Amino acid sequence: MNATLESGPQKGDPTKGLLAKKEVFERLFESAPDPIIIVDQAGKILLANGEAERKFGYTLAEIVDKPMEILIPERYRADHVKFRENYSYAPRLRPMGSGLDLFALHRNGQEFPVEVSLSPLAIDDQLMVIGLVRDISERKNAEANIREKAKALEFANAELSRSNHELEQFAYIASHDLQEPLRSISAACQLLEKKYQGKLDATADEFLSYAVDGAKRMQNLIEDLLAYSRLGTKAPKLVAVDLNLLLKQVVEGLKLATEEARAAIHIESLPTVLGDRSQLFQLFQNLLVNALKFRSQRSPLIHVGYHSMGSEYEFFVQDNGIGIDPKYFQQIFEVFRRLHNSQAYPGTGIGLATCKKIVERHGGRIWLSSQPDAGSTFYFTLPHHA
Ligand code: ADP
Repeated sequence: MNATLESGPQKGDPTKGLLAKKEVFERLFESAPDPIIIVDQAGKILLANGEAERKFGYTLAEIVDKPMEILIPERYRADHVKFRENYSYAPRLRPMGSGLDLFALHRNGQEFPVEVSLSPLAIDDQLMVIGLVRDISERKNAEANIREKAKALEFANAELSRSNHELEQFAYIASHDLQEPLRSISAACQLLEKKYQGKLDATADEFLSYAVDGAKRMQNLIEDLLAYSRLGTKAPKLVAVDLNLLLKQVVEGLKLATEEARAAIHIESLPTVLGDRSQLFQLFQNLLVNALKFRSQRSPLIHVGYHSMGSEYEFFVQDNGIGIDPKYFQQIFEVFRRLHNSQAYPGTGIGLATCKKIVERHGGRIWLSSQPDAGSTFYFTLPHHA
C-alpha cells in the first residue's frame, strides 16, 4: 500500500495526500459542469463524463469505442477527421476552431453550438485527447438577440432621421413659400391702415390694427421658422471666430433694447472658437434678447462668461430676470413653446429651439439653471475643436 496516498497532506508537497487520490479525480471528472470526452489517437471514444451523457443523450456504454464523429453533425464529419489527424501530429492544448462556429449533435438529431478545448494526454505511450465541450446556446441566443435589437434600433434611428429630415424640408418649403403671400397681406393691411385710419368708425380702426398686428406677428413667426429649419438643411460652416468681436457686434445690435431696459451687460474676455459665425451670432443674440426681454422689476444685470473644461468650453449667459420654474426646463427648448402670451412678452417661441439646434450641430449641449424670480443662467458647451 502506498503510504503517501493513505496519509494526510504532506508537508512541502501539496499534490500528495488528498488531492492525489484517484477517487477525487474521478469525482471531479464526473461532476464537471461541461461534457468531457476522452478519445484515442484514432478518434475512438474511450471515456465520457455524466454531463457528456446528458448533453448528447447517449449512455457511456452506447458511445464507448465509437468514432467521436457520431457527436458531430454529418456535414462536418469529413473535415473533422482531417482536423483530428493533423492534431495528432502536433498535439497541444488549444481551443478548437477559434473564429469558427462549431456545432455538436444530440442523439435526437438536434444540433447545438459549442466551444471545444483540446488537450493531449499521454499515458503509457498511448496518446489520448481530452475534449472539453461547452454548450454555448444561451450565449449565442443572447448575441443573436442583441444583434436583432441593434438592427431594429438602427432601423428606427434611420426612420427617425429620415422623418426629421422630411419635416425640416417641409418646414423650410412651407415657411419659404408662405412668406410671399403674407408679404402681400401685410402690405395691403398697412396700406388700408394708412389710408383709412380714423376715417371709418372706432370698431373698424380696431379691426384694422388687429389685422396689421396679426400679419406682423405671423411674418416674425415665419421668418424665425425659416431660420430654424435652414439650420437643419445646411451644415455649419466652420471658421475661427473671435467671440470678443462677435459679442461686440451682437451687443451693438441690441443697443436700443439695452438702453430701453436700462440694462448693464458685462462680457468677460472670451476665446476664439471654431464655429459657424452667423450661427454663433444667432445663438448669443437669442440668449441676450431673452435676458433683456424676460427682465423683472430689478435693473437688468447680464453677465456673459466661460470656463474651459477638459476638451470643451462652457459658456454662460446669466440674468437677474423673472426666472423659470424648473418644471419647464425641457419644454422651453421645443419649437413654439412659450410660457407667456405675446401681450406679456412678445416672441415666437423659436429662439431657444434655435439655440439648441445650433449648439448641438456644433457638437455641444445646452441647459439652464433657474428659479422663479431669481434670474436664469443658460449654459452651453462648444468643443475646443468644434
Ligand atoms: P420666445 O423668447 O420667443 O418666447 P424662446 O424659445 O426664446 O422663445 O423662449 C421660450 C420661453 O422660455 C420663453 O417664452 C420664456 O418663457 C422662457 N425664457 C427664455 N429665456 C428666458 C429667460 N432668460 N428668463 C426667463 N424666461 C426665459
